[in-house]
Amino acid sequence: MKYAFGVDIGGTTVKMGLLDQNGKILEKWEIPTRTEDNGSKVLPDIAAAIRDKINEKGLNDSDIAGVGVGAPGAVDDNGVIYQAVNLGWGKFNLKETLHSMVKLPVKAGNDANVAALGESWMGGGRGFSSMLMVTLGTGVGGGLVIGDHIINGAQGSCCEIGHIHLVDNEEEECGCGNHGCFEQYASATGIVRLAKRRLAEDTKDSVLRSGEISSKRIFDEAKNGDEVAVEITKRYGYYLGKGLAICANVLNPEVIVIGGGVSKCGDILFDLLRPSFDEFLFKGCRETKFAMAELGNDAGICGAARLVLA
Ligand SMILES: [Zn+2]
Repeated sequence: MKYAFGVDIGGTTVKMGLLDQNGKILEKWEIPTRTEDNGSKVLPDIAAAIRDKINEKGLNDSDIAGVGVGAPGAVDDNGVIYQAVNLGWGKFNLKETLHSMVKLPVKAGNDANVAALGESWMGGGRGFSSMLMVTLGTGVGGGLVIGDHIINGAQGSCCEIGHIHLVDNEEEECGCGNHGCFEQYASATGIVRLAKRRLAEDTKDSVLRSGEISSKRIFDEAKNGDEVAVEITKRYGYYLGKGLAICANVLNPEVIVIGGGVSKCGDILFDLLRPSFDEFLFKGCRETKFAMAELGNDAGICGAARLVLA
């Protein structure tokens, strides 16, 4: 049996896992991400945690396929990270730097892409030959996995689907500096914006007129029958389906796996996106399937381990 370490570097904690070659998580733990001194302590901390775990478990280096890493920035096929603002990192070769410290084979990728690989290996994309992972969180992230291979793109920016231009004449600016991006409508923050706009249109009664509005609350109130909340979720579904149809027309994945905070609303999401998805979908792509992500926060360590086990 071979083992691998999966490492998912976040801005406040590093999630770490020891997995076997079948994808079973034998152990998982976290260490703090020490971002001081431009993040120079992050990789030494990871290497030390791995060496400690190898000693604790009495493993031999020959039992370990390697260390896979997901990092919050664009990473190319050579393991070069271009920048990770949250960690204070500039451009350097992440793969070779960590390898020199931990003395095990290392592979590295962008955290969202690595999580996509995890979902394709052990989660919602299991059994499909090609998968687009879509994460509906604060923004909208995408990751394309074909077989066991993450498609990174030339500069590690493949599937930045959140910044597909979806709507003309949008006055608010997206985080990327553009206007009318997919994630301005389809993210968790996007649905809150849609709600505020809908509420401003007229004075129709709605429980959403008082209290804090969140994506969860909008879906909950729609389920409870609040008519305005129902309208908002339908508008949300329209934008989500339209954006995903554009993705499917370009990539023609066998399955689209949806994760992130908004996906917690459940299968209703598929009903909401279906009308506009079908409307804008090229006929040759109509076999595209949908599934929910299954691994939650474990997708990152799972996909990272797969980088070195595949
Ligand atoms: Zn944008």
